[in-house]
Amino acid sequence: MRIAVMKESAPGERRVALVPENVARLAKQGHEVLVEAGAGAEAGFPDDAYASAGARVAPAGAALDGAEVIAKVQRPSAEEAERLPRGTLLVGLLAPAQSGDLLRRLAARGVDALAMEKVPRTTRAQAMDALSSQATLAGYKAVLLGAAALPRILPMMTTAAGTLAPAKVFVVGAGVAGLQAIATARRLGAVVSGFDVRPAVKEQVQSIGASFVEAEVAAEGAGGYAKELGASEQERVRATLARHIRDMDLVITTAQVPGRPAPRLLDAAMVRGMRPGSVIVDLAAESGGNCELTRPGETVVDSGVTIIGAVNLPATMPHHASQTYGRNVTTLLLHLAKDGKLAIDPEDEIASAMSVVRGGEVRA
Ligand code: NAD
Repeated sequence: MRIAVMKESAPGERRVALVPENVARLAKQGHEVLVEAGAGAEAGFPDDAYASAGARVAPAGAALDGAEVIAKVQRPSAEEAERLPRGTLLVGLLAPAQSGDLLRRLAARGVDALAMEKVPRTTRAQAMDALSSQATLAGYKAVLLGAAALPRILPMMTTAAGTLAPAKVFVVGAGVAGLQAIATARRLGAVVSGFDVRPAVKEQVQSIGASFVEAEVAAEGAGGYAKELGASEQERVRATLARHIRDMDLVITTAQVPGRPAPRLLDAAMVRGMRPGSVIVDLAAESGGNCELTRPGETVVDSGVTIIGAVNLPATMPHHASQTYGRNVTTLLLHLAKDGKLAIDPEDEIASAMSVVRGGEVRA
């Protein structure tokens, strides 16, 4: 199988789809990897590290000649899509729900596509689960951003000049990102509480040392995800959150419902009820935000409360984000290969779930 790694071109994107360690693993299985020059530079993986691992480094464009698989992080731009050779398989975070035009263009060009967001959340596919690998890092970074924006420290500190009380951190949405945020805030010494609408999460929150805020709702959907709340449950959640956040220093929101805009959990009045100096980090900023005052990619200050509309945090930790994303992609590619060749089994449940363009047709 001949795999090409494209250099990312989206603004702010510093990750790369495969790292040298992945190249070595693929080469060992007899696959050939071509890397566009400079593809890993921003993530701390120079061209010579790829070459030492067995890749061929080629100028942009030339790397794609003869490739069967093109590995990317972000969905290709219109210009990049034009460079994809007919008959190739594109693998990346393609945001299929928002990429109708792109998918139609790929179908018309005879390029098949697998969306990394659509890896099934099964035990078998866990090592390919890019949403989880990237959300874990985002949850960690959200705490650091919040801590840096706070006018106080997170841990309790006893000094000759007196004792400083620990910060109170509240994490809303305790999925993959939220649980990592809770663990990180705990390690930094904060007093942490968590909330989710899936009751199953309560024990997980408590097992990593946070208290669970009760709102008596149960919105467990399919596949371990949440479903949208009904009006009366929504009101109960908002009343509970309004009470709880008044006393918080840092609130990290991560609530998402698959296929829907992010639930609006904190309105302007609730934010204005918080203490001046407190901080909200909204990890759902890109899908509409959990907070009414969030502006994606911006930091807003309202009534003394700082609201950080965090976008694409994994790209701010490109080394580790690429290492884990690359591992996800490599595991997928080795899963798809049969006897050294790309051979997608139409019955394969992982490839079928991920397939968004196949044989000239858009399937998403
Ligand atoms: P996600 O990003 O879709 O949502 C984040 C969290 O927001 C979820 O925990 C969800 O319950 C919560 N949420 C939704 N609406 C809310 C509301 N109104 N108020 C508060 N919280 C709300 O989810 P995710 O983090 O990608 O994953 C969710 C779950 O999926 C995991 O916790 C796990 O159970 C499961 N999962 C399974 C696997 C696997 O088996 N391989 C892998 C990853 C995740």
